[in-house]
Amino acid sequence: MQRILVIPDGLAETPGGAGTTLSSFTPMALNAIARRGAVRRVATTPPGLQPGSETGLPLLLGWTPGGPVSRGRIDAAAHGLTEPAGAVVHRVDVRHDDGRPWPELAETGLSLLHGLDEALHVQRLSGHRLLIWGHRDPTLPRRLDLDDLGAANGVEGTHDPDDLPRFQLWPDGEVPGPILDEDTVVVCAPRSTMAGVARLMGAAVVHPTGATGRPGTDVAAKARAATSLLRDGIHTVVVHVGSPDEASHARDPQAKRLEAQKIDRDLLAPLAALVLDLGATLAVCPDHGTDPRTGAHVADPVPAVVWGPGVRASGPNVVTEEAVAHEPVVHGPWET
Ligand SMILES: [Zn+2]
Repeated sequence: MQRILVIPDGLAETPGGAGTTLSSFTPMALNAIARRGAVRRVATTPPGLQPGSETGLPLLLGWTPGGPVSRGRIDAAAHGLTEPAGAVVHRVDVRHDDGRPWPELAETGLSLLHGLDEALHVQRLSGHRLLIWGHRDPTLPRRLDLDDLGAANGVEGTHDPDDLPRFQLWPDGEVPGPILDEDTVVVCAPRSTMAGVARLMGAAVVHPTGATGRPGTDVAAKARAATSLLRDGIHTVVVHVGSPDEASHARDPQAKRLEAQKIDRDLLAPLAALVLDLGATLAVCPDHGTDPRTGAHVADPVPAVVWGPGVRASGPNVVTEEAVAHEPVVHGPWET
């Protein structure tokens, strides 16, 4: 039976306080799916691991990490790069002291990393993200060196005693296994984490024009791409939308809500109609939570729904963190 999985990246949050994005508006399509399907929680972050897309996305596609996953290898795959055999692969981010990305300092960071003896290859991926291939774990340059060189290069905001820039290292680690084939097609933004995970796992990847992974991304284009893939008979179609996570990292709850509304209206509504027509199964499941007030990832099990032939309606009638708080926790998007 055909199936489609929609992954709104980082959409979940921790219940309580000011309320969550999912509880801040009435998602007509998601609620209609919830009334007919099984609503429960999905554990997307295995115990002991940090919540994040490098962990949650492979898990949703069927590969459960046993330890920290290599961000660098996922990004290399996303950018179509192949590291030399035996290389250690790291991603390095350039950030403000409080964790916000600092893309204006990325070129400065790049030139400092070029000076490391152990580096075989250093390149900028996008924004604040850099990639290093080395013989061993790199010893990163000091924050002060980054600050000084940034100021010398005229980067605004350096030499602020309250905001010393820093490198964040994502060490090498596990690599998602090649357990899929081209019967799984992933619709996502080019060069995204999702694209890297999909390639490493052996799935086919489709990038609709207008899909950026950021707020303002064209989710209707993703719905059209998914529709034609399902109509062509593809067994499993995965649609990833990165914008809720990006809006959360930008600490912009309004932008996150707008993206969630757009996903409901422009993606879930047409897909729900299509799924009825084809007799397919639809699941909606974030890969992890991200708090739009702090920008931090959340490891709690995420609210999710699965609906289709043979799935008994169960759980609450809405997909919110509060509504599912006492529902059972399952370990994959298709489990009921
Ligand atoms: Zn994130």
